[in-house]
Amino acid sequence: MSYVDEVMESVRRKYAAEPEFLQAVSEVLESLRAVVEANEEKYRKYGILERIVEPERIITFRVPWTDDNGKVQVNRGYRIEFNSAIGPYKGGLRFHPTVNQGILKFLGFEQTFKNSLTGLPIGGGKGGSDFDPKGKSDREVMAFCQSFMTELYRHIGPDTDVPAGDMGVGGREIGYLYGQYKRITGRYEGVLTGKGLTYGGSLARTEATGFGLVYIVEEMLKHVGEKLEGKRVVVSGSGNVAIYAVKKAQELGAKVVTMSDSNGYIVDENGIDLDVIKDIKEVKRGRIKEYADRVPGSVYHEGSKGVWGVKCDIALPCATQNEIDLESARKLVENGCRTVAEGANMPSTLEAAACFLENKLNYMPAKAANAGGVAVSALEMSQNSERLSWSFEQVDGMLKDIMINIYAMTSEAAKKYGHEGDFVVGANIAGFEKVAEAMIAQGVC
Ligand code: NDP
Repeated sequence: MSYVDEVMESVRRKYAAEPEFLQAVSEVLESLRAVVEANEEKYRKYGILERIVEPERIITFRVPWTDDNGKVQVNRGYRIEFNSAIGPYKGGLRFHPTVNQGILKFLGFEQTFKNSLTGLPIGGGKGGSDFDPKGKSDREVMAFCQSFMTELYRHIGPDTDVPAGDMGVGGREIGYLYGQYKRITGRYEGVLTGKGLTYGGSLARTEATGFGLVYIVEEMLKHVGEKLEGKRVVVSGSGNVAIYAVKKAQELGAKVVTMSDSNGYIVDENGIDLDVIKDIKEVKRGRIKEYADRVPGSVYHEGSKGVWGVKCDIALPCATQNEIDLESARKLVENGCRTVAEGANMPSTLEAAACFLENKLNYMPAKAANAGGVAVSALEMSQNSERLSWSFEQVDGMLKDIMINIYAMTSEAAKKYGHEGDFVVGANIAGFEKVAEAMIAQGVC
């Protein structure tokens, strides 16, 4: 049996109850076949695949907090320190009712390769809780964040593990988490990224994932002799990633016609009015449905999956994992979509991704396409270490260079191993090789 199949079988046996983790491992290992076969003896000897699929450490803890009625609530908190071969653990915290160990393992595993692709010295981690900030008062969110950090603080540090935001963790939550860390430890240091600009945050971090996604799309189009200008774009989600992807796509002349949330989606044939979206989502923390009441000519549809049936040239899934299944992928292809770039983590099922590749779409997987967020987080760490703040233009320029470089590494790795144009293979191999070499160099650990 091949080395890849052996390890895959063992992971399936051990982690049958973690479907998202199995999906992520299966996607990565499948696409590493060529590089593993070319170096099989070395990788087997050092147990690279067995080690790379196993988190270095999983921390789980109880998070008790008191709601506005004076009742004690309990959630589960996690931090998965997946791989520190190339730097301190780095990856977001997700607060969402669906959070469990398997989902955070898939995210931490992916993060390891993504962080490697940025070219910056950061390892992979992920964490969060099954706490749902939706519908909670500010005081409840603060109480939860303070309790969460009261346990987490002992496991993180500016040179060991530096969490950031993810779904359900934006500027408000990072602020409460940082305040509690400082209160407990008495240290003012870069232990979290995505901080506010008044207390050590980096300019362009809020925009980074969405902007980075569009920069890599620009690069993909450039290589097939096209431009974003005039393209019709479908975006899902209406959170941090989606909002700034829409902003940059519009700046570059594309027409974005949809956005969504977990209840449904809106279509605006005149192009999304981002000021209205920001007011609904960032200021009022409301639902996307309200957009149709406020913007004449736009239409709201119940059910978020329908967004993939809207005709487009480019699709940017920016909501959540497995939001595009095979049926939705086929619909996109039938309707003439030629480019898909993933803002969300693993938004396409394995079958959907295969459908994009079979139909020769220009398809950029998440670990390359959304790496801009973590890249600017690493730049925030650098600024915190130097106690300096760089300008927006400086950070944005570095982000753009990083995304162009990720495109180059991804397409070169795909070509080198005989899969030209297959960015899934390219991103996985380019991310993997550096981590594997660092693991071998550091001995058995
Ligand atoms: P947010 O919490 O800011 O926004 C998430 C958005 O997705 C919300 O609009 C939410 O709607 C929507 N959503 C959630 N579940 C579904 C669903 N089942 N169907 C349709 N829409 C849904 O999160 P982010 O924008 O930060 O993250 C989005 C994705 O991007 C995640 O996969 C995350 O891991 C990934 N990512 C984020 C990075 C970052 O820097 N923030 C970096 C790299 C990746 P609702 O309000 O209804 O929940």
